[in-house]
Amino acid sequence: MIVMKFGGTSVESAEAIERVAEIVASRSKRSPVVIVSAMAGVTDQLVSMGQKAPSGDCEISLGALESMRERHLHTASELLGKKRAATLASRLEPYFSELENFIRGLAAVRELTPRGSDYLLSFGELLSSIIVADAFAARGLNAAWVDSRECLVTDATYTRAVPQMAETRERASKKIMPLLSKKRIPVMGGFIASTREGVPTTLGRGGSDYSAAIIGAALDADRIEIWTDVEGMMTTDPRLCPDARTIKQISFNEAAELAYFGAKVLHPATLLPAIHQNIPVYVLNSRNLKSTGTEITAQAPRSRDVFRAITAKKAVSIVNVVASRGIMVHGFLRSVFEALDRHAASVDIVAISEVSLSFTMETKRLPQALLADLEQIADVTCENDQAIICLVGEDIHGKPGIAASVFNTVAEAEVNIRMISQGASEINISFVVSESDVPKAVRHLHEYFFPAGKNKMAIAKRNGGVRERKRVNGSASGVRASRLANQKEKPAGKRAAAGTP
Ligand code: ADP
Ligand code: ASP
Ligand code: MG
Repeated sequence: MIVMKFGGTSVESAEAIERVAEIVASRSKRSPVVIVSAMAGVTDQLVSMGQKAPSGDCEISLGALESMRERHLHTASELLGKKRAATLASRLEPYFSELENFIRGLAAVRELTPRGSDYLLSFGELLSSIIVADAFAARGLNAAWVDSRECLVTDATYTRAVPQMAETRERASKKIMPLLSKKRIPVMGGFIASTREGVPTTLGRGGSDYSAAIIGAALDADRIEIWTDVEGMMTTDPRLCPDARTIKQISFNEAAELAYFGAKVLHPATLLPAIHQNIPVYVLNSRNLKSTGTEITAQAPRSRDVFRAITAKKAVSIVNVVASRGIMVHGFLRSVFEALDRHAASVDIVAISEVSLSFTMETKRLPQALLADLEQIADVTCENDQAIICLVGEDIHGKPGIAASVFNTVAEAEVNIRMISQGASEINISFVVSESDVPKAVRHLHEYFFPAGKNKMAIAKRNGGVRERKRVNGSASGVRASRLANQKEKPAGKRAAAGTP
């Protein structure tokens, strides 16, 4: 059995959904379970409705809801023809009425709670999955819509719920396995789940990838396919750098590091369930049926380049904490880390000197209460609009001169580096720059480390043989790798990685 996940752009229109149906039909013998995102842009629109309605802007939100309704019904009629679309419309209308009531309720109570937000955002995937399932059926695929909220069980951390694997395994098997044994193709929404008690939750923005991996692990899939709008995982975001190349094969550890440090093509937690069960993951292009994409497995052949890829994580803040005079150094560090722990702060990069400590966090996750707490023990300043640039590659371990090449290249781009981290993870070099410098820095680094054609020889020479040295370490260790290992539920299976599609 395989899991196939299609992202927002892959289901954004009737034409895109047609392509999805063709791709799924080409895999029908492999017992696919299909997971879809909301149509492109829909989750953002729901977020915006949820922000506007409580501030009293109910009419704007209701107007946006009406266009959303028209878009879904129009897509359905393009896919299904008038008669079948009318039947589907009567199934979809109750969802739009529910949404309308909810928006009016938000305007009345003037508040959107995290729990309410998950309820609101769940409609995007509910609607798209119902339409896709019907479009499949109309094309002769034996599809069955499955309510993800009855399969995926999470805790109650609304907006970023944590999956409860044992229960998910039980519920998902009960719901999905009988369908597969009848040769049906289950179609479900990604991103959404529910608590044990049935309250809707979401896995965080971009979480449909994660749903695919959770369901893949729960059902012990042979492979997990992430179908998106690019050729696979690339050497950098192709939107930042048009010269980005597709990475044919990459290891779990490298791909996890890239996802964590901003490669939006995969939700950062996606690989955890796959790693636990050693299930190969493929990133493929839904606009190209013949796509071979990227294969992500426990071990990947060494790359010809020094690094596997470059990513940038934007919207980051640097917090500088400087000890007030008279505070003992060891006591100072303890107090700072205790404060971070109290606020469950997830810190990316830390730099420590005797009496000061700087750390970075995603700005939206930086609790104001943490800053207030730190101000009790130190002078605190906070700088927003920063970004972490991260170069990842398992082959960099133990090779001299690589950091120097990275920082020289950044200097050539006339970009100022604010913080540096190398060593915590042996498979990456990361540093902080101002967000506005990201395009310049990434393009320079990409040109240097992934030279195209003629440039290649000249730059390899300039690299002083860095590219030529032998691989020292066969497998990645590093902080994230051991963190992944610590989260293992059961030992990785013996399954060999499947071939490319
Ligand atoms: P989907 O809707 O299919 O989930 P996303 O928009 O979430 O798609 O992710 C795909 C996008 O990720 C691409 O369009 C690309 O701009 C971006 N991206 C960022 N970094 C990378 C990378 N290293 N490789 C490929 N795509 C990347
Ligand atoms: N629709 C959700 C989002 O936009 C989940 C996803 O697309 O993966 O965040
Ligand atoms: Mg995505």
